[in-house]
Amino acid sequence: VNIIVQKYGGSSLSTPDKFLALAREIAKRSERDDRLVLVVSAMGDTTNNLVALVRELSSNPPAREMDMLLASGEQVSIALMAIALHKCGIDAISFTGSQVGIKTSPAHTRARVTGVDTSKVGAELDKGRVVIVAGFQGVTESNDVTTLGRGGSDISAVALAVALGAQRLEKFTDRDGVFTADPRIHPGAHRVPHLSYEEMLEMSHSGAKILHPRSVFFAMKYGLPILVRKSLGHGAGTLIDKGERRMEEPLLSGVTHDASVAKVSVYKVPDKPGMAYKILKVLTDQEIPVDMIVQSTTESAVNDISFTISKSDLNRAVELLQAASGDVEGIEVRASPNVALVSLVGLGIRTNAGIITRMFQALSEKQINIQMIATTDVRISCIIDEASVEEAVRTIAQTFDL
Ligand code: ASP
Ligand code: MG
Repeated sequence: VNIIVQKYGGSSLSTPDKFLALAREIAKRSERDDRLVLVVSAMGDTTNNLVALVRELSSNPPAREMDMLLASGEQVSIALMAIALHKCGIDAISFTGSQVGIKTSPAHTRARVTGVDTSKVGAELDKGRVVIVAGFQGVTESNDVTTLGRGGSDISAVALAVALGAQRLEKFTDRDGVFTADPRIHPGAHRVPHLSYEEMLEMSHSGAKILHPRSVFFAMKYGLPILVRKSLGHGAGTLIDKGERRMEEPLLSGVTHDASVAKVSVYKVPDKPGMAYKILKVLTDQEIPVDMIVQSTTESAVNDISFTISKSDLNRAVELLQAASGDVEGIEVRASPNVALVSLVGLGIRTNAGIITRMFQALSEKQINIQMIATTDVRISCIIDEASVEEAVRTIAQTFDL
């Protein structure tokens, strides 16, 4: 028998009706002989609401207690899911992350999975039950509850699927798979039937919210196929795997965008060893992730360094940098919150340099100014004015027939 792990996100679980509708679908499916493990997130906006609740109490809550609180959201979902399945005549049992032995590092609110004990889930599956596991959470060696970082249920689902030797992970979302662009911005966008891990990873890193980037990386490491499908739908979805059958398929997989990024520029940085290190260390010491980094080379004694960070980290980052650079003559820190990232992803970028030129041409024809550029093997990303991001997505999608 095959084990299938299914992951359901908060938007598929926002009301009791949605639990029931899902349970009915699962009831139909479980007549087949697949063994089913469901990994669920907290209902709707529950996690955001819990975070907001804490903000009213403290700006600096202990991370251990944040985890205690945030893990409660998923505990509500697993129980409701089990109750809904029982109502539809399905024998199901729910477990928290700690009950099924999802072991993690002790880094509260951003823990990493270190191992999964599958004996309990295995025994329940053998009894013919549907097993429901709380996503996003685990437990340390010393029995403290942890969470894996926001959006971390995808990571739980991959961890369980890998540990159980599941045939695949099915990730349910609002759309029938991964699309070439956000259809709300570019209505002509279409479903991509097949993606390699590498392409999905780049799409996740550049704003596609389909899968947590850590979960894609994890699946790639173990070769676990992921099928992205629509909640309760019957479409074919998008299959993400090693991508071996892609020889005759299109070379570009999509255009992504991310308006949650901000740009920081540090001007007049003395051109000498150690300056980039000092600037970045100020941020990484405070665990502020830095993404694109661009240094301009000039012939003068100073350089400009720009990088992107999350908009939510911007104020703190600028304060830290200003405090740290106070003693460096002439240095200047400037924040640009009103930017966005637009990216073109595809294996073809590796072999076809003309793609980059065509993308830049398309942006220039719309008078969209490129503030920063970064490329990887399979992705071209530009930082542009936030107000132009939708137009940029459309024009790139049209240029490449995406
Ligand atoms: N409920 C958690 C969050 O909203 C985990 C998840 O949804 O994957 O971040
Ligand atoms: Mg959520």
